[in-house]
Amino acid sequence: MRLVLLGPPGAGKGTQAKRLAERVGAAHVASGDLFRDNLGRGTPLGLQAKEYMERGALVPDEVTVSMVLDRCAAPDAQGGVVLDGFPRNRTQAEALDRAFADAGAPVDRVVLLDCAHEVVKARLAGRALEEGRADDTPEVIEERLRTYERQTAPLAAYYEAQGKLRRVNGDQSIEAVTEDLVRAATED
Ligand code: ADP
Repeated sequence: MRLVLLGPPGAGKGTQAKRLAERVGAAHVASGDLFRDNLGRGTPLGLQAKEYMERGALVPDEVTVSMVLDRCAAPDAQGGVVLDGFPRNRTQAEALDRAFADAGAPVDRVVLLDCAHEVVKARLAGRALEEGRADDTPEVIEERLRTYERQTAPLAAYYEAQGKLRRVNGDQSIEAVTEDLVRAATED
């Protein structure tokens, strides 16, 4: 099964994508984690991504698309993937569609984790205190939300037109959201 999880920063995508991947027996592929891993290891890709991440902007598509598609080609991803944080704009979505179509296994379903603006802002502020992630300052949080609204939110319509989109309310308990996601990802 090849799933895409869409949703604003702070909606709980990371937590839920991991839980969903376990439930459906797929690999969790998170573009933000891949970038942070590269950054931590000081790879050229990590260094390239750094300035964009620090601003809350998207890392250029050339870098991002090949990084994610390489990860999807790994042996442990052959049984399926839950994509988290990718695609984030139209160019990435089209590149993903092409690559998966070429591989004969298109995206099966896209689930939008819906969450009110005030809720995601409160959660991001809380996470900033707990985890101290470098891009969780108030200014960068605002920019990440703007980037989401401008570039990523329109992907809901893109996937709706393909008949693949389902919506889940992210403003519930972790367990309840997971149950809704599993249902949305697997039901006809
Ligand atoms: P969040 O969803 O909380 O903003 P992520 O961990 O998904 O956090 O992403 C962190 C940063 O990594 C983004 O702000 C962006 O700079 C970069 N990034 C992640 N995924 C992508 C992507 N698909 N395209 C471009 N940049 C990305």
